[in-house]
Amino acid sequence: MRDDVPSGGIDFHCHLDLYPDFEAAIARAEAARVYTLTVTTTPKAWPRNHELTRHTRYVRAALGLHPQLVAERAHELVLWERYLPEASFIGEVGLDAGPQFYKSLDAQKQVFRTVLERCSDSGGKVLTVHSVRAVPMVLEMIERHLPQDRGIVVLHWFTGTKAEARRALMLGCYFSVNVEMTRSARGQALISDLPLSRILTETDGPFTRVDGLPAEPASVGATANAIARTRRTSEDLVASAVRTNLRALLDGTFTEF
Ligand code: MN
Repeated sequence: MRDDVPSGGIDFHCHLDLYPDFEAAIARAEAARVYTLTVTTTPKAWPRNHELTRHTRYVRAALGLHPQLVAERAHELVLWERYLPEASFIGEVGLDAGPQFYKSLDAQKQVFRTVLERCSDSGGKVLTVHSVRAVPMVLEMIERHLPQDRGIVVLHWFTGTKAEARRALMLGCYFSVNVEMTRSARGQALISDLPLSRILTETDGPFTRVDGLPAEPASVGATANAIARTRRTSEDLVASAVRTNLRALLDGTFTEF
C-alpha cells in the first residue's frame, strides 16, 4: 500500500472473475484506486486470476475453494495445495451449513481443516472466510487449526451473534462489512458493536447491489458511508480507520498489497 497516492477505498472481498468482462472489472478497480481483494471460488480459476493481478497496483487475487462448491469440487483440494505457495491471500473458503449445502458439510469441514492446517504450516496468509449458519463451527476450527501467529482471518459477511463476534475478536479476527449488512437491523447492531479497529469494507460484488446495479470495487464508498451512518460518525473517519486496519493486518503477516 502506498501513502503518496490517495486511495479510493478498500474492497476486501469481491468476485471480479464473475463479472461479464473480468479484465474490464480489474481495470475499473485500478482506475478507481480501490485496494481490491478478488477471491476465487475454485482453484482452477487461480492461474488466470493470479496472472491478471501480478502486476496490478491495487488488485490482488485470493486462492479459494468455496464451501458451496465443495460437493462437486472437493477433489480440487490437491490443486489448491499445489498453488498455495504462490498465494498470500486465501479465499473464498469456510463453511456453509444452509439447507442447500448441509449435505456436504462433512466434506466442507475436511476441506476447511486442510486449508487451515496448510495455512498454519506456511504462515503469513490472510484468509477471507465464509461462515453462513456455521459461525460456531468456523470459529472452533480456526481456534484449533490456525494459531493467531500463523495467519489472520477476515470474516466476510458475518451473520453471527454479538457473543460469537466477541469470540471471533478474541481469536484475532477482522470483519469485512458490506452494504447489504447495513440494511438489516441485526447487521446494524453488529456493525455498531464491533471495534472500529477490526472493521474492513467489502462489496462481495456482484452479489450485492448499489443503486440497483451489481456492486463493484468502485462503489465500495457506499459501504463506508453506510457504516458511518450506522455508527453515527463520518465517512472519512471510517475510510481512514479501514485503511489503518488493512495496514496493521498486512504488517502482522508481512504481506504486501
Ligand atoms: Mn463471496
